[in-house]
Amino acid sequence: MSYRAEYIWIDGTRPSAKLRSKTKILADGAEPPIWGFDGSSTNQAEGHASDCVLKPVFSCPDPIRGGSDTLVLCEVLNTDFSPHESNTRSLLTEVAERFEDQQPIFGIEQEYTFFDGARPLGFPDRGYPAPQGGYYCGVGSDEIFGRKIVERHLDHCLAAGLGISGINAEVMPGQWEFQVGPLSPVDVADQLWVARWLLYRTAEDFGVSATLDPKPVKGDWNGAGAHTNFSTKAMREGYDAIITACEALGEGTKPLEHVSDYGAGIDTRLTGLHETAPFDQYSYGVSNRGASVRIPWQVEADQKGYIEDRRPNANVDPYVVTRRIVDTCCAALEKAGQV
Ligand code: ADP
Ligand code: MN
Ligand code: MN
Ligand code: MN
Repeated sequence: MSYRAEYIWIDGTRPSAKLRSKTKILADGAEPPIWGFDGSSTNQAEGHASDCVLKPVFSCPDPIRGGSDTLVLCEVLNTDFSPHESNTRSLLTEVAERFEDQQPIFGIEQEYTFFDGARPLGFPDRGYPAPQGGYYCGVGSDEIFGRKIVERHLDHCLAAGLGISGINAEVMPGQWEFQVGPLSPVDVADQLWVARWLLYRTAEDFGVSATLDPKPVKGDWNGAGAHTNFSTKAMREGYDAIITACEALGEGTKPLEHVSDYGAGIDTRLTGLHETAPFDQYSYGVSNRGASVRIPWQVEADQKGYIEDRRPNANVDPYVVTRRIVDTCCAALEKAGQV
C-alpha cells in the first residue's frame, strides 16, 4: 500500500507570497523525503537554472483526503541546500533558538474575507449591504455568510491536530477570523501557514475564494488584520516585563521597521479608523483597541500575562512577525535583566 503526501511550500511572489502544493505518492511507512520543483513557475528561479529543493519541516494528517494521507509543509532551499532567499522560516529558527530560554509563545488571530467572484460573500450584486454593526459574532442568514465553510475549515484544522484556539465572525459581511496558538514562534508560524492552506482548499470545494487582503473593501469597512499576541516566561510572571516589551516595540526606529514588515498595503489598513492606530504613530495602552499594542484588561488586573500587537496585516508572513517581535522584545528583556 502507499499514501499521498501533499507537499506545501511558500513561493516567491511579491509583495505577498502565495502557497503552492503538489502530491507525492510514498510507500506505506516511508518518511517524506527531500523533493524539488520548478522555481521558474513560482517566482523563485530563472528558467536556465530553475530547480529548487523542498525540505519537509512539519507534517500532519491530511484531513481532506483522510486515511494515512499527510500534509507536508516544506522550507525552500537552493540546490546547494542553503536557504532560498524567499525562505523566511530559516531566519526565524535562528532567532527563536537564540532566545529559546525566555520561552516566547504566540497566539495569532487570522482575519480573512470570502469572495464570491468579484464581491465579498454576502455583498449584493450592486451597491452595498447594510453598514457594519451587526455582523461581528452575529447569527442568522441576514448577518452571516459562509458559516458552512468556516465550520468545515475548523473540523479540518482539528483533524489535522493544529493548535487552533477559536473562530468568530468579523465586522464586515463575509469576513471571519480563526486563532492559532499559543505556541512557540516556529510552531505557531508553521501551523498558521498550514491552516491558511486548509482555508483556501476548503473554500475551493464550495466554489468560494478566501483572501488575506488587508483592505478588501475601500471606505467605511473594517480591514483584515492578524493581531499577534505575545508573551515570554517573564511576562507571564510579572508586569514589569510586560511594560519593557511594550516600550521596546516603541523605541527609536523600531515602530517603522516593524510596520514595514507587517504585510503589504499596511498603510491602507492602519489609518487610525476602524479600531486601528495610524501606522506611523506608535502607542500602547490597557484595553485600548485604538492603540498599536494593547495590554488586555485582565493582564493589568493580574499584573502578568501577554500583549497584543494589533498592527500586523492579515497578509503578514508569520515567520517574519514572530521573528521581529522576539528579536525586539527578548533582546530588551535580556538587557533589562528580566528573563
Ligand atoms: P481578541 O480579544 O483580541 O479578539 P482572541 O481571543 O481572538 O483575542 O485571541 C487571543 C489569542 O491570544 C489566542 O490565540 C490565545 O491563544 C492567545 N494567547 C492567550 N494567552 C497568551 C499568552 N500568554 N501568550 C501569547 N498568546 C496568548
Ligand atoms: Mn480575536
Ligand atoms: Mn478580529
Ligand atoms: Mn485581537
